[in-house]
Amino acid sequence: MLQTEDETPFSSGPDSTAPSSSTAPPSERLQVELQSHGLRLATHEAGAASRQGGAGPSDHKAVSVDGSTIMVPVHTAQSDESPYYATAPNSQGAATLYRDDEQVGTVSFPDPPQFYRHETSDGVPMWKVAKLHSHNVLATTVLQRCIRYDDRETACQFCAIGQSLEAERTIAYKKPHHLAEVAEVAVEHDGVDQFVMTTGTPNTEDRGCKLLHESAAAVQDAVDLGIQVQCEPPSDFGWFPKLREAGADAIGMHLEAVQPEVRKEIMPGKAQVPVDYYMDAFEAAVEVFGTGNVSTYILAGLGDSKEALISRSQALIDIGVYPFIVPFVPITGTPLEDHDPPGDAFMEAVLAPVGQMLVEAGMTSDTLDAGCAKCGACSTLRSFEEKARQNQ
Ligand code: SF4
Repeated sequence: MLQTEDETPFSSGPDSTAPSSSTAPPSERLQVELQSHGLRLATHEAGAASRQGGAGPSDHKAVSVDGSTIMVPVHTAQSDESPYYATAPNSQGAATLYRDDEQVGTVSFPDPPQFYRHETSDGVPMWKVAKLHSHNVLATTVLQRCIRYDDRETACQFCAIGQSLEAERTIAYKKPHHLAEVAEVAVEHDGVDQFVMTTGTPNTEDRGCKLLHESAAAVQDAVDLGIQVQCEPPSDFGWFPKLREAGADAIGMHLEAVQPEVRKEIMPGKAQVPVDYYMDAFEAAVEVFGTGNVSTYILAGLGDSKEALISRSQALIDIGVYPFIVPFVPITGTPLEDHDPPGDAFMEAVLAPVGQMLVEAGMTSDTLDAGCAKCGACSTLRSFEEKARQNQ
């Protein structure tokens, strides 16, 4: 039976001050399970608002568990059936976490940021310009349109970049001054220390690099914070030094899936850019941004085998690229909304060896300058790095 927001799942009733159960799973297991199953909430009002729609992973909420903040699905069909349930936070902000009828710990939710209450100098609400991700990352989609999205023949089936625009939760194009003004307020009032800028792909050979260049330069002029830009590989790799000079500390170019047949099925437009071209772009970008500050998002659960994910990760690490492997989250309203997310056993079987490889390469999340791999909230890869480090 699904819970409504006012119901509590257990006859004994929730107790937000209860201690963690002694049978609580280890931290990395708990985090993997939360990201795989999602979380039912007593209230969606606690903490910063959850993300729905938009580019990349969505339908998540930032949840702090065992000292880490991770993004946990809360709006997906699967999360409605999750064995995990969080009560409303108590007066100290702690919510009791249950797995089925057993208390397994406490979680909390980062506060809504101050910048959401402000407007830009031309009257755009700042919450429409950028979002707080995790607890310290500003994130935006500079261009909320994509040449691939409007045609289902070419669209990435997991993507919801148009949904938030249709719902007027964002604006189509964030001008450089919008980004600079939001960054200033978020750094001053919310302790934000990095800015992740992605973009839908425009119909130009630079694949959005020009927009990202202008954006990074404006933010860099206004405030000091780490910047990661994200785009498809441009036709001219000369954009990499230009982006670096504009203030970008890191770049992400996202494979999403690694096996050619999976890429073709899930993202028929983007798959026309072969993996080999990405590898060439990665090598050129590593020369500019340095080892680890070039990364790629890989969505586990789209059909790639465990072996393919691990071997591609090793090939990426060998050339200095951080494979940021995240569990696929089926977003409501997309063609893949009913696609099963990967199980926690699959995620653990992939993340444990990749975490080990990253530690052996000395290219762990904490060594990076900016970006999703540094934030780490959409994956539990960082906790597997930690485990591998402890086992050394
Ligand atoms: S990992 Fe990237 S997409 Fe996920 S919360 Fe962090 S900045 Fe946002």
